[in-house]
Amino acid sequence: MTTLDEYLASHLDGLRGQNLFRELRRVDSPQSSRIQMEGRTFVNFSSNDYLGLANHAVLKEAGIKAIEEFGAGAGASRLVCGSLAPFHELEETIAAFKKTEGALAFSTGYAAAVGTICALLDTRDVIVLDKLVHASIVDAAKLCGATLRIFAHNDLNELEARLKWAANRQSRALIVTESIFSMDGDAAPLRDIVALKEKFGAWLMVDEAHATGVRGHGGRGLADELGVAGAIELQMGTLGKALGAGGGYLCGSRTLIDFLVNRARSFIFSTAPVPAAAAAATAAIGLVESDDGAARRERLWKRIAEARQAIQRFGRLGESGSRETSGAIFPMICGDEAAALAAAAALRERNIYVPAIRFPAVARGKARLRITVTAEHTPEDIQALADALKAAGKIF
Ligand SMILES: *Cc1c(COP(=O)(O)O)cnc(C)c1O
Repeated sequence: MTTLDEYLASHLDGLRGQNLFRELRRVDSPQSSRIQMEGRTFVNFSSNDYLGLANHAVLKEAGIKAIEEFGAGAGASRLVCGSLAPFHELEETIAAFKKTEGALAFSTGYAAAVGTICALLDTRDVIVLDKLVHASIVDAAKLCGATLRIFAHNDLNELEARLKWAANRQSRALIVTESIFSMDGDAAPLRDIVALKEKFGAWLMVDEAHATGVRGHGGRGLADELGVAGAIELQMGTLGKALGAGGGYLCGSRTLIDFLVNRARSFIFSTAPVPAAAAAATAAIGLVESDDGAARRERLWKRIAEARQAIQRFGRLGESGSRETSGAIFPMICGDEAAALAAAAALRERNIYVPAIRFPAVARGKARLRITVTAEHTPEDIQALADALKAAGKIF
């Protein structure tokens, strides 16, 4: 063993000791409501493919056609070797979908968060985050050098206090929140947040990763549903969740997009995504807005209602437990990391695949099963989940 390997191995032993060690599980099938692992078939309650588009024929055909027309790879950054047509079609489609002047596609949602926040803010500024925002936003906040202020999850009084503090310092302030939270499944009070941002002259960035395709008219997201999209300067999302493809986007004013093309380093210094991903995402947005998309959303919400009934009998739902259902994510809080691992293993025994979510994805001691339902699940799948939870019930 080299000294590097010794150092790394001792770190990994530390993770094992805390039940925080992770391993990749190989899947030998496409993502859908069924997945194949180790020669067995599992009902899959782990993916963010909420509308069942990741393996949809329309997306696959669009991707294949783009490969035939534009090749497998993009060649370089879009600013270096020219910007392939599928990215422009995608950005026009996103902007029309979100009703903004413009949109910029990034290789991932992570890159969209880091590129945008670091382009906008520096050490003179203040960034104000909900305690539960995604790691991509936390990493961006650290990297941009702005003063970081956190408010308790969805706590408007604390948000107001942070904004007051920034205003007293005469700093520009950017608030960042999610619309539907990735690990708790609950919704942000976007109308109240918009009112506060306007009161204090702050800017607002909303990450719609888990609401796009799921909430709002035509699946446009929660900001659209609540009628506040027009007041949010920076609307972010991913193309890899309900949209079934891959990539991230930022949409807003034309000026914002021009600024990001010039300043977002994760966009500038990175090879453009493969054209197939852009074409599949463009097709996905068309599908989400179509009658097929509406029918999928309707099926999804039926499954969400059934899952809520099935799940709440067995355990403590997260923040969303006491509220109206916000989306397709059901956290079942186990607390202890070992308990979450044991619960996930007990469900796998019964051919149900649900991930045990642990630190650093959630706080220590707040480990959970994160159950996600999709439009591809049947009522029988939800029943199978309920039966498996019942059989594994001692754990909860
Ligand atoms: C998944 C996710 C991202 C990152 O998007 P990717 O396209 O997967 O990189 C950002 N924000 C939230 C809330 C997410 O859940």
